[in-house]
Amino acid sequence: MNKSSADLVEVFSSIQGEGLLVGLRQAFIRFSGCNLTCSYCDTELDRTQYCQLESTPGRRDFFQVENPVPVERLVNLISGWQRGWPGIHHSISITGGEPLLCHQLLQELLPALRHYLPIYLETNGILHANSPNSLTMWIT
Ligand code: SF4
Repeated sequence: MNKSSADLVEVFSSIQGEGLLVGLRQAFIRFSGCNLTCSYCDTELDRTQYCQLESTPGRRDFFQVENPVPVERLVNLISGWQRGWPGIHHSISITGGEPLLCHQLLQELLPALRHYLPIYLETNGILHANSPNSLTMWIT
């Protein structure tokens, strides 16, 4: 992984099932890896060779791309969803794993994604001190 690409598990469209935005459709970008090992964790955390990208929002028509996934590929996918299905997503969920393990990448990715939709960051909160303040301006 480098500053312009990330190891991801999947990118897909679904209804948020928890938290403040429960019930709203979001575009989910799920990062692999976490700095914790919670015994109750139900998320695939190991790095995989491939990331699953959903072609049509909510249809589960996934295709595989090799990890790490370039920022440009992610932005193209989300912008394509916005063009093809305007208004169906409330926001983008940046989730994991622990996305702040990739805070350098997020500095490039979040401003690009924020152009299309609000950003919702799901984090365990432990790495906030390592993350630059500039990230906060892109999370709404
Ligand atoms: S912080 Fe979340 S993703 Fe990480 S191990 Fe715990 S439950 Fe899993």
